[in-house]
Amino acid sequence: MDKELMQILACPACRGELEPLAESDPVRPDPAGLACPACALVYPVRDHIPVLLREEAVPRLEWNAGKRCARPEKRKP
Ligand SMILES: [Zn+2]
Repeated sequence: MDKELMQILACPACRGELEPLAESDPVRPDPAGLACPACALVYPVRDHIPVLLREEAVPRLEWNAGKRCARPEKRKP
């Protein structure tokens, strides 16, 4: 993601700076999420578009545990 875009992005809850979280997958060089250290929330990046919505944010601890969606994930049958 380009640096200029990163500079205008801010946490919608506290207007704080966001920290990009790298995905380990080298095929997808974009950050997988943007973390707000103050709120301990991660905003997901979907199709190169940061989803800066409070209701879409994943708590940092859950993000670290592998969760990528704020809504309950569908279980496989
Ligand atoms: Zn914040």
